[in-house]
Amino acid sequence: MVPTDTLRRVFGFDAFRGVQEQVVARVLAGERTLAVMPTGAGKSLTYQLPSVMLEGTCVVVSPLIALMHDQLRAAEAVGIRAATLTSVDDNRAETIERFRAGQLDLLYIAPERASGEGFRNLLTQAKLSLFAIDEAHCVSEWGHDFRPDYRLLRPLLDRFPDVPRLALTATADAHTRADILEQLGLPQEGMIVAGFDRPNIRYAIAPRENTTRQVIDLIAETPGPGIVYAQTRAGVEKLAEKLAAETGRPVLPYHAGLDPEVRRRNQAAFVASEDMIVVATVAFGMGIDKPDVRFVAHAGLPKSIEAYYQETGRAGRDGDPAVAHLFWGADDFARARQRIAEVEPSRQPGERTRLTALGALVETATCRRRILLRHFGENEAPERCGNCDNCLSPPAAIDATVTAQKFLSAVFRTGMMFGTGYIESILLGQSSDRSISNGHESLSVFGIVDGEEAVLIKPVARALLLRDALRANDHGGLEFGPEARAILKGGAKVELVLPPKRERRRRGGKAAGDNPVGNPLFEALRAKRREIAQETGLPPYVIFHDSVLRDMALLKPESIAAMGNISGVGARKLDAYGDAFLQVIREAA
Ligand code: ADP
Ligand code: ZN
Repeated sequence: MVPTDTLRRVFGFDAFRGVQEQVVARVLAGERTLAVMPTGAGKSLTYQLPSVMLEGTCVVVSPLIALMHDQLRAAEAVGIRAATLTSVDDNRAETIERFRAGQLDLLYIAPERASGEGFRNLLTQAKLSLFAIDEAHCVSEWGHDFRPDYRLLRPLLDRFPDVPRLALTATADAHTRADILEQLGLPQEGMIVAGFDRPNIRYAIAPRENTTRQVIDLIAETPGPGIVYAQTRAGVEKLAEKLAAETGRPVLPYHAGLDPEVRRRNQAAFVASEDMIVVATVAFGMGIDKPDVRFVAHAGLPKSIEAYYQETGRAGRDGDPAVAHLFWGADDFARARQRIAEVEPSRQPGERTRLTALGALVETATCRRRILLRHFGENEAPERCGNCDNCLSPPAAIDATVTAQKFLSAVFRTGMMFGTGYIESILLGQSSDRSISNGHESLSVFGIVDGEEAVLIKPVARALLLRDALRANDHGGLEFGPEARAILKGGAKVELVLPPKRERRRRGGKAAGDNPVGNPLFEALRAKRREIAQETGLPPYVIFHDSVLRDMALLKPESIAAMGNISGVGARKLDAYGDAFLQVIREAA
């Protein structure tokens, strides 16, 4: 049996994606491997497929129980014999029996099991085909998610030196990768790294003007499930309420302050939904594996480029178009700088570098994807990706150094105690009781800006705050930051990126999701999927992805055999759902 036959028969896929084939080949050859593949690249297939082909059981170590149960559901849906062995499973005795009897292709366990003598003995009682270690970066103290239990894996693995090992991770820098190899006993040449690019995600970054309105516009353009990240619990609650009132879509909040039961329920509702919006703090999304998320919006600055990549990576895992939209404000940068000032001095330079990198991503007039990819060491990334806001409608970059100097000068001459609005009014020469009583109308900067230049004042203020030439004090007054001097003296230029007008942005490319919404057959197929989802308690995407329904609506297969040729329809799903969907197609004919 060759891998592509099994790929076709079990998963219904015509071809491997990216490095999957390489990884699978190593596993089937009995070798030890570390696969670094971005989210959505299809990591799970690289052990699920061998688990079907090889004799014995593949033991999968996975750190999150919720994730395990998602995986279990998906594996069972394609007919793989799988089980989980965790503290919350009450069928443990049965699972152990099945394992011993050689009736399991996959056995998911939590890392803390690995250290138990009982479990080690159990593993000697059946044939093992593979150890798969998911989220392998947890083994490294360098990683962002170190879990001490992962350190106990090595002795366990070493007890079974002939069983191949496959470690998997989506995010690991060079340091962490080296550590994973070392900690899990994997050879250097066993490392396979896929590119970081997520071509189906469109990146867009814009200054905050009216966050609620901006998010509502995004939602209106983007059907399908979405996640909106807000920075605080209060922010989550407020935004969720407004979106619920104004979008006509189901909206639920998610943050650590909610009762665990409410959290669980909201997450489950989101996983099952085809159009829900979750407004959440960044913790949301870690334990879920929902492939049909169509957009991720950030209502504020993420912590780092790594965090941004990881959070936006929760969109579009099914490979269909998805949108990542970040709305930032100058105050985000001010707050981040304050936070940095409070961390241990030894960590401050690193944190500052991280923030500078984010600033560059946000401020650029060039391709966002290129900046992201280069950040992760992919220096060959093309100049233009064609699927980010700056590539789709290139912004105008202009030299605003003179306006910036005028702004700084006004801040200085008014005593570094006023906010952006007041400084703007002075520059524009708008007379007010305040400007008169302050005696500011006689300043040389009063009315120094007019005409076209007026629209630059706010963006200039934002740019100055972003690059630490200005800082807001506790009362909102602007003071000079360390970068002010160089700009005033003419040693540093201030380039401004002017976001294109709204209409232009609309025209650029199509919105996320290329589903033929409104096509009666497609809608009928979706309705059937919803019906089956309700009956079986499975999320719709576990039954079929949108792409599968799209192909059905396009190709209109007339027989079970023809339906089986559609990508994503494997033998098991054909058997379980083929007739029901064929019926829908016939009725529509
Ligand atoms: P990861 O764990 O790397 O984030 P998953 O294993 O969840 O990714 O896979 C992401 C999606 O891609 C899944 O829904 C899966 O069905 C799909 N997929 C995986 N491999 C292929 C393939 N070779 N062809 C088509 N779709 C695939
Ligand atoms: Zn681009």
